[in-house]
Amino acid sequence: MSTATAPTGEKILNFHENVMLAIERAGALTDVPKGLLDQIKVSNVVVKINFPVRTSRGYEVISGWRVQHSHHKLPAKGGIRYSPLGDQEEVEALAALMTFKCAIVDVPFGGAKGAIKIDRRNYTEEELERITRRYTAELIKRNCIGPAIDVPAPDYGTGAKEMAWIADTYAAFHGNDINALGCVTGKPLTQGGIRGRVEATGRGLAFGLTEACRHAEDMAKLGLQPGLAGKSVVVQGFGNVGYHAARYLAEAGCRVIGVIEWDGAIYDPAGIDIVALDEYRKGTRSITGYPHGTWLTDPKAALELECDILVPSALENQITAENAPRIKARIIAEGANGPTTIAAEDILNARGIMVVPDLYLNAGGVTVSYFEWLKNLSHVRFGRMDKRFEATAYDRLLGAIESTTGKRFTAAERLSLAHGADEIDLVNSGLEDTMIGAFQQIRETKLRDPRIKDLRTAAFVGAIQKVATTYLELGVFP
Ligand code: GLU
Repeated sequence: MSTATAPTGEKILNFHENVMLAIERAGALTDVPKGLLDQIKVSNVVVKINFPVRTSRGYEVISGWRVQHSHHKLPAKGGIRYSPLGDQEEVEALAALMTFKCAIVDVPFGGAKGAIKIDRRNYTEEELERITRRYTAELIKRNCIGPAIDVPAPDYGTGAKEMAWIADTYAAFHGNDINALGCVTGKPLTQGGIRGRVEATGRGLAFGLTEACRHAEDMAKLGLQPGLAGKSVVVQGFGNVGYHAARYLAEAGCRVIGVIEWDGAIYDPAGIDIVALDEYRKGTRSITGYPHGTWLTDPKAALELECDILVPSALENQITAENAPRIKARIIAEGANGPTTIAAEDILNARGIMVVPDLYLNAGGVTVSYFEWLKNLSHVRFGRMDKRFEATAYDRLLGAIESTTGKRFTAAERLSLAHGADEIDLVNSGLEDTMIGAFQQIRETKLRDPRIKDLRTAAFVGAIQKVATTYLELGVFP
């Protein structure tokens, strides 16, 4: 382990060590026996692959990993990231987070994660396709992918296109598997994807934060009013998570006053038009030069802007013991995985700042992945069987109301009232219900035990207990 030391002499933990420490701390507050806790902590399977790829520069060795952290439920589930900084410890930490994330939102999967150590900007689309297909073939050879075994998804540096290549490669090797499309989620709609998956993590974050900010007594402790309306927000990262989170938070009435990217930040206390900023970014591939607001050149310092809610949705280890004392937000809403170190969280807790943790708040992605997997296994679009039936039933009801009351509904009223649920309606309703239910469980866990001081510990305690129950019921530890 690469533990560094701070000038003060204290150990600086890396991401993996932070996740393990969070599990240990929470585990100590459960009655789960030590041996079982050890099992819940370790990665069940770690696969490292080195494979050759032909690029315009000649042959290159590419390294990748797939970690299945927990087999207490199968398939294992989690994204694949393309990052030049990828390493085994990072993938193991992320895979572990997936186990607890799935448990929190009652998605019946074990945790997994994969990575390919590349900077995707250095490769053409054709080369990326070759790398993705070869990586998939390597996973197939090792029985590390499949709808019943391990189901990847997008993560940092990957998206629907890569998932389509993965699905196609898997299907080519498994021509007889009618469920082959369920081997990966986050696919394009035309390749077995589901409506609402792209925006699911950001939307889930907004649903989760709405619920977290609903309780007047919790908000009073932060000196805030209940509800999202009027709260000022700074978002770090304008990728898939950050953009959609910012958009839905703005729709919910927040004022997004800061958007931080790797090379600087836009600051506008009057509120940034998120959709306009995205349009600008689509044209120039960057938010730099956006003609509104003030451009701040130091992205790290921008984390310390005065705001109600800070949404780190880029990478891990952004809020550390070094900058935590200067953070001015009252709420940290973790869109990324692992943006706050444990040492930082201790400081934030002591300062009375509420941290809504990653393993709950960004679970919207895997929740909708679960819906996509169910869709693939059932081979039918949600809503296909009942949409018209529902609409007709409502229509008849409106007709009955009209004939008994004499009231006449306008065409517009009829259209909005006699509406059957589409796939996107069902996905969003399932996502909202999941995020609300999971927060209530976490909050209750925290309120039940005075030793639990923060939401992360509460989330881990609940998740560890759920995983342990599965193991115990399986009789693995009789
Ligand atoms: N990569 C996402 C995450 O970290 C989604 C995982 C999935 O959908 O399986 O939660």
